[in-house]
Amino acid sequence: MPEPLSPAELIALDRAHVWHPYGPMPGRADPLVVESASGVRLRTAGPVHGRRELIDGMSSWWSAIHGYNHPVLNEAVRGQLDRMSHVMFGGLTHEPAVRLAATLVEITPAPLRHVFLSDSGSVSVEVAVKMCLQYWRSLGRPAKQRLLTWRGGYHGDTWQPMAVCDPDGGMHQLWSGVLPRQIFADAPPAGFEEPYADHLRELIGRHARELAAVIVEPVVQGAGGMRFHSPGYLRVLREACDEHGVLLVFDEIATGFGRTGTLFASEHAGVSPDVLCLGKALTGGYLTMAATLCTSGVADGISRGEVPVLAHGPTFMGNPLAAAAANASIGLLLGQDWAREIKRLESGLRTGLAAAEGIPGVADVRVLGGIGVVQLDHRVDVAAATEAAVRAGVWLRPFRDLVYVMPPYVMEDEDLARVCEGVCAAARAG
Ligand SMILES: *Cc1c(COP(=O)(O)O)cnc(C)c1O
Repeated sequence: MPEPLSPAELIALDRAHVWHPYGPMPGRADPLVVESASGVRLRTAGPVHGRRELIDGMSSWWSAIHGYNHPVLNEAVRGQLDRMSHVMFGGLTHEPAVRLAATLVEITPAPLRHVFLSDSGSVSVEVAVKMCLQYWRSLGRPAKQRLLTWRGGYHGDTWQPMAVCDPDGGMHQLWSGVLPRQIFADAPPAGFEEPYADHLRELIGRHARELAAVIVEPVVQGAGGMRFHSPGYLRVLREACDEHGVLLVFDEIATGFGRTGTLFASEHAGVSPDVLCLGKALTGGYLTMAATLCTSGVADGISRGEVPVLAHGPTFMGNPLAAAAANASIGLLLGQDWAREIKRLESGLRTGLAAAEGIPGVADVRVLGGIGVVQLDHRVDVAAATEAAVRAGVWLRPFRDLVYVMPPYVMEDEDLARVCEGVCAAARAG
């Protein structure tokens, strides 16, 4: 084993060589060094804030729903590691992946029957788009190759997903003229408004001839602005898509596995999509894996085409370690009264974040399931807000005008109250 790096050495090397998400090179802000994590706590060391234990309000970008270093998840991965960590998925198969696919079909809305496993959420969206475009090509309708979404969304950082991210908050300006130009409806209002429903119907009808699919995040728009909307709009989309012959894709990478209070957010509307993307909490935050599910109608359509296969196959498709973690994570989730835990988080967040309403500069406070959002009337000073949260013993990662929390489901009430105090401290400082 090499000598461990001191926190100062580590930061110096990090600055020199390592790119961080949406970061400049070289980096301008020093990240915190995490030495270990267990339960809902991150243990940090380092020149900036020293040795600390921070309560994690982020679930590592909404994925670590059972907390860190969980004995059941550890055991599942360890057991799989002793059998095999990976084999190619072309021409081979294995129990962890097959079991996972069957489970996903069982727990998602009924018409979804087929599962494509990939390595990350963005890739699962690429696969979803490819499925939809190929479906229409196979049916002899190659003109149907555009996508429609609403503003304020986020679907990932690779090419097709970027093109359906919010055109103002996303990277559209940088990439104008290069990204495929998709069709944008206005951002969905929080409550159900008939004129907005008409706006959706009108756009889908007007563009039906060139539209392959509508893609949206149901009920909660995550990284595009943490906005909530009426589930009624999902019924409007389903009806309009059926009427005009357009596929419907739900991106539940952020909302899946209980976060909004139902196992999948589409259940708030009682609507099922033709294609569904899952990721983030799929493996309980242990390993990178995502899934694209589709109906038999979509799969049959593709199979009738001139090229009757889905032309996609990542090297690490169906990775057994990730699949084992996912199986264990879903088992843990469904083996408990998860809906009650989300309700408990929801009421803790409502109580704890009520204090934020009186803070100068706070424009809105909203809570849904295990999601708490404090929106400011200005851009957050991320460094100052992070610093204030860390001083309060809490890890948060604000963005744009938003200080928000997505706690691990296992967070106890006392820790949740402290996280809410951290959010208020960050909102005051930021
Ligand atoms: C995070 C996210 C993605 C992208 O997933 P990655 O694993 O980061 O590629 C796509 N859609 C939604 C809704 C997300 O929240």
